[in-house]
Amino acid sequence: MEVISLAAGSSYFKSPEAATEAAIKALQEGKTFYGPTQGTPALRKAISQKYKAEGIAIEPAQVLVTPGTKQALYNLFTILLRQGDEVVVPTPAWFGFHELLKYNSGTLVPLPTKLEEGYQLTPDMLRNTLTERSRILLLTNPGNPTGRTYSQQELEALLEVTKDFQNLYVLSDEIYDLVTYGNPVTSILSCQGAKAARTIVVNGFSKSFAMSGWRLGFILGPEALITKCVDFQNATMSGVSEFVQDAAQATIESKEKLLPAMQEVLQHNREVMRQGLDIIPEVKYYLPDGAYYFFPDFSHYLNRTSITGETLLTSIDLCRYLRTCYNLELSPGDYFGAPGHARMSFAVETPRLEDALRRLRQGLLLLLHPE
Ligand code: PMP
Repeated sequence: MEVISLAAGSSYFKSPEAATEAAIKALQEGKTFYGPTQGTPALRKAISQKYKAEGIAIEPAQVLVTPGTKQALYNLFTILLRQGDEVVVPTPAWFGFHELLKYNSGTLVPLPTKLEEGYQLTPDMLRNTLTERSRILLLTNPGNPTGRTYSQQELEALLEVTKDFQNLYVLSDEIYDLVTYGNPVTSILSCQGAKAARTIVVNGFSKSFAMSGWRLGFILGPEALITKCVDFQNATMSGVSEFVQDAAQATIESKEKLLPAMQEVLQHNREVMRQGLDIIPEVKYYLPDGAYYFFPDFSHYLNRTSITGETLLTSIDLCRYLRTCYNLELSPGDYFGAPGHARMSFAVETPRLEDALRRLRQGLLLLLHPE
């Protein structure tokens, strides 16, 4: 039985041809030397225009192109965090935040949200968590792993609370912003309550455009902060390879043509996964508004003994059982701060997804009724 992985954070789609063609052209033109550290003017302009088209006034001077969104986050953590600072992160959240913070001064403060409450983050919850030491409120919109998006109203209410905290920056990771199944994502930058000097967005090309291997991300923020981040990038990485930036520019300029085909597959696969989960007893989940994951609660299947004789106590044990006995890979919820859950990507070929869901059902049912 071939291994099927629903654990990856990248989709199965090929990177856009527009990207490959532009990169080849740039290489042939000899764009193989240091480029401008902040990003090519043409790419920064294309990014600013994407936001301007959504009514968000971002100038090219407020854009820093980074080698991936991870690097965008690492750059910001390095510039903003001082000893004793706290980074407040609503959970469940992407494990990468925790990994990045191992290499910076800040401490991650989880702000737990619950599946039963639709992963809602209320102003009261936020107020009770923020302190004078809170330096960054790190939102992910749409969420990974939950697929939850914040409405404009929710964001405005949260921003209202942040106004009382002078040291705080609001950082919104919007890397899945173009992968949605209903309403488009509201960028934090479009909110009335967003303070220009204190609001930052990171985004990238890995998810929406299936370009994870190109290492392309960006920061949008106040010019003074961007200048500091450019300095850090100059001292450490230099700019993103120019031919890669040309590829990014070609991609963003043809996004209207590129996105619908991927969206259509993902919309269909989301339904396949929903139906596949619905026929497994006692599995609860949030129907994702965006991104390409379900994050079901499989707690009902824990504390049971598998055919290997092991008692499955955690989501890590459960995922190991599914990998060993069914060649099915999921990402354990413990990594995202949500014991008992597992993240399942539906950005895989539909027939493989159907097969994966059959294996999951079989594996879980066998735990309930060992033969
Ligand atoms: N932020 C989130 C929420 C992510 O899920 C990921 C990738 N899994 C990243 C950032 C990192 O993206 P990149 O490939 O651009 O470094």
